[in-house]
Amino acid sequence: MNEEFVVTPYKVSGEVDYEVLIERFGTKRIDEELLARLAKYGPLHSMLRRQIFYSHRDLEWILDEYDKGNKFTLYTGRGPSGPIHLGHLMPWAFTKYLQDTFKVKLWFQLTDDEKFMFYDHLTLDECKKWGYENALDVIALGFDSKLTNIFLDTEYIKTMYPTVIKAAKKINFSTIRAVFGFDNSNNVGSIFFTSIQTVPCFLESMEQGKKVPCLIPCGIDQDPHFRITRDIAEGMDYYKPALIHAKLMPSLVGAEKMSTSTGNDTTIFTTDDKKTVKKKVMNAFTGGRVSVEEQKKLGGDPDICSVHAYNTYFFEPDDKKLAQLYSDCRSGKIMCGECKTLLFEKVWKFLEEHQRRREKAKGVLDDFFVRD
Ligand code: SF4
Repeated sequence: MNEEFVVTPYKVSGEVDYEVLIERFGTKRIDEELLARLAKYGPLHSMLRRQIFYSHRDLEWILDEYDKGNKFTLYTGRGPSGPIHLGHLMPWAFTKYLQDTFKVKLWFQLTDDEKFMFYDHLTLDECKKWGYENALDVIALGFDSKLTNIFLDTEYIKTMYPTVIKAAKKINFSTIRAVFGFDNSNNVGSIFFTSIQTVPCFLESMEQGKKVPCLIPCGIDQDPHFRITRDIAEGMDYYKPALIHAKLMPSLVGAEKMSTSTGNDTTIFTTDDKKTVKKKVMNAFTGGRVSVEEQKKLGGDPDICSVHAYNTYFFEPDDKKLAQLYSDCRSGKIMCGECKTLLFEKVWKFLEEHQRRREKAKGVLDDFFVRD
């Protein structure tokens, strides 16, 4: 068992063992019983059926409250430091599914302040600019403007600040150091930041003037932020936020989390053109054999293949077709070239439409943004 990997909001390294992570983080698996319960609200998303969203905190309680007529609010976000890639879109597409299924409001936070404090190469204006760029990708996914509030921290801080400092007073440095691995070299802004990250969980409660449950769909690497929030929430007279966690989308080079830091050739950005997308998909790491003859004879290995991972995470929502691809790979019926071409066609079909909707989103930003 691989115990060597590292997962924090600021660092993911090594080959992540998601079973170990559940134990390490103390979260709960989304088991068959919970899946059956979720299926009562509408067809299960492929990311639930395939255990990509696989772990949670207090999801049963969120559903209990919902059943009593106490609707939850959704909260997720993005640290705007560059363009959006497909790995970012995955949990947001799932968030949209939650909004559609439960007809609930979403608070979407753009942490321009965080990225400014953590990255030396970015000015605050650049972080803000990326915030507006990234919001186009969020809107392009089709969120309901009447149920979605997007905000930049620096443009909504006046509303949040009284609650931010109440949170900050309850968090001490030793907690931050233990959870995030910070040391004396971290600037004080980054140490303070988690108190800002805490407050969107409470924004709906603040707006309605009563306690409103909050559900956070996110990559499991973001869990540590909200462990702190959960520790202090009840002392601030709010509910602890619940979470639903996703495994991290692998990059085109294999098991490593898709990240802008793994390099531009291994990451498909939402604004890439057709030629670039094709090149990236056709160069992807596969579980193929050294020669066509060998692959026909022995079959490929979809379990280590990034092309198959892309189909599983996002691009082949049909379970039967996915299973067929899997067995065709194993039996040597399909070769990697054909398989990559099929994936490219699906990725490009999605991106072409996404890019069209992204352009359209430029005209409706103000329908989504809230500011002080
Ligand atoms: Fe991967 Fe497809 Fe090749 Fe199998 S045939 S190893 S799934 S690219």
